[in-house]
Amino acid sequence: MDKRKTIMILGGTGEARQLAGRLVALGHDVTSSLAGRTAAPMLPPGTVRIGGFGGAEGLAAFLREGGFTLLIDATHPFAARMSANAVAASAAAGVPLIRIERPGWTPPAGAAWIEVDGMAQAAAALPEGARVLLTIGRQEIGAFAGRTDCTFVARMIDMPPEVPAGWEILSARGPFSVAEEMALMKAQAITHLVSKNSGGDQAAAKLEAAMALGVTVVMVRRPALPAAESVASVDEVLGRF
Ligand code: NAP
Repeated sequence: MDKRKTIMILGGTGEARQLAGRLVALGHDVTSSLAGRTAAPMLPPGTVRIGGFGGAEGLAAFLREGGFTLLIDATHPFAARMSANAVAASAAAGVPLIRIERPGWTPPAGAAWIEVDGMAQAAAALPEGARVLLTIGRQEIGAFAGRTDCTFVARMIDMPPEVPAGWEILSARGPFSVAEEMALMKAQAITHLVSKNSGGDQAAAKLEAAMALGVTVVMVRRPALPAAESVASVDEVLGRF
C-alpha cells in the first residue's frame, strides 16, 4: 500500500459498502456518500455523509474543502446523474476518479428476454393480461400505472408515496435466493419480470428463477455515462492500491 489516502466513495450499493470496509481496514481515511433515498440505509464503515451535494460544483467544492485525494464512483449503474457529476467534479477539483462498472447481465441461451431502453418502453412491452413482478425500485413505477390491463406486484425497499390502484407492494431488501424468487413468482403466477440491467451477483437470482419458470424477462438497458477510468469490481479497485 502506498501512503494513506483521503477517499470519497459515492455509494448506495453493496459494493460501495464492501469497498469502504476494505479501504478503512487498509488504514485509509474513507468518507462514503449516500443520497438519502432509503429510510434506514445500511451504513458502511468509516465516515458517512447523507444527501445531495448540489450538483457537480457542490461535489467539486466538497472534494476540495475535504482535501480528498481520490474519488470512487461506486453508485448503482442507473444513478446516471451522480456518475456524470462525478466526472465533472473530478475534473474541476483535480481529484482522480475511478468508477466501478460491474458487468451487465446477458440473456442465457434460450431465455425469453426482451431488451428495452427505459421504463416507458418496458411498460409498452408487456402484453395485455400480464402478471408482472416489477423490481425497478420506487422512483419510476409511475411509468406502469397506465397499464391497468396488467396485474403488478412491485418489490422495493421502502413503500412508495402513492400505490397505483390494485397493485401489491412487497417491501423487502435483497439479496434473495433462487428458491425464494421462484416461490414468489409461483405464488403470484408471474408471467413477466421487469428489471434494470444492474448486473452483479446480488440480484441475479431473480433471473435464474425466471428462466427456470419460463417467465419472460423485460430488461431495461443501462443509461449511457460519460467516459471515466473504470474497473469491474471492488477487487480491481483494491488492486490499484
Ligand atoms: P441519480 O439520479 O444519478 O442522482 C440524482 C441526484 O441525487 C444527484 O444529482 C445527487 O444530488 C444525488 N445523489 C445521488 N447519489 C448520491 C450519493 N451517493 N451521494 C450523494 N448524493 C447523491 O441517483 P439515483 O439513481 O436516484 O440513486 C441514488 C442513490 O441510490 C445512489 O447512491 C445509488 O447508488 C443508489 N441506488 C440507485 C439505484 C437505481 O436504480 N437508480 C439502485 C440501487 C441503489 P446533487 O446533484 O445534489 O449532488
